[in-house]
Amino acid sequence: MGLCVFDLDHTLIRTPLDLAAMAADMRRLIERERGPLPDRPERYRVFELVAWSKSQAPDLERAVWAIALEHEWRAMGAAALEPGALDAVGGARRAGVQTALWTNNARPVTLPALERLGLAPLLDLVVTRDDMTALKPDPDGWRIIAEHFGARLDARAASADTATRFAGTRDAVVVGDSWVDGVAAAAVGVPFVAYGAREADLTRHGVTPVAWLSDLARLPEWLTAHFGFQGSPRRSNRLGSHCHDGHGRT
Ligand SMILES: [Mg+2]
Repeated sequence: MGLCVFDLDHTLIRTPLDLAAMAADMRRLIERERGPLPDRPERYRVFELVAWSKSQAPDLERAVWAIALEHEWRAMGAAALEPGALDAVGGARRAGVQTALWTNNARPVTLPALERLGLAPLLDLVVTRDDMTALKPDPDGWRIIAEHFGARLDARAASADTATRFAGTRDAVVVGDSWVDGVAAAAVGVPFVAYGAREADLTRHGVTPVAWLSDLARLPEWLTAHFGFQGSPRRSNRLGSHCHDGHGRT
């Protein structure tokens, strides 16, 4: 049986969550308390500022998270489904594929939105940042997914590499809009399906999706082609004009 793991923001739901603004608020707090961070051309990302406070200023970590929660509460209240999201998750289920959510959002913010938007009953597992030790692109959340869907961490496998330890979820894909989803998936050897992603960002971070989707409602069709009927991944794709493998986007 296949497993389809979805990102949340800008994959299944649209929110006005502005991660750049969240990161800017976090940086402002950190710099007010600790002085300027080193300048660099690219902005500091949320996960980097969280990691920085965790390792360099543990007494600031709570305040940094409070900024995240405040932004998330506001955004989630205004969240709407991505077009095709219910078709994608419900269709995956009907195609015999198990479903999970893997989000960097907090659980108390995520669950009410999933209920309100009708996604909750379609998901077999919800993994939020409250469940993991590090945010995507760190693959720690996959530990929860692998445990839930029955990867057997026997003594031999536990000493093997990451991909081997997660063999129980070999027949899985990750669907997301961001390079952080692709990098996290690659870290555990799971194919990545890009939805609404910016190709330049993926390329810059070395992410090569197994497929590109521009219409989420076509995902069940792709999953059926990918997993076949026996749960074994095949690389076939009959995707029409809405999605394709590899090069560029339609
Ligand atoms: Mg996202």
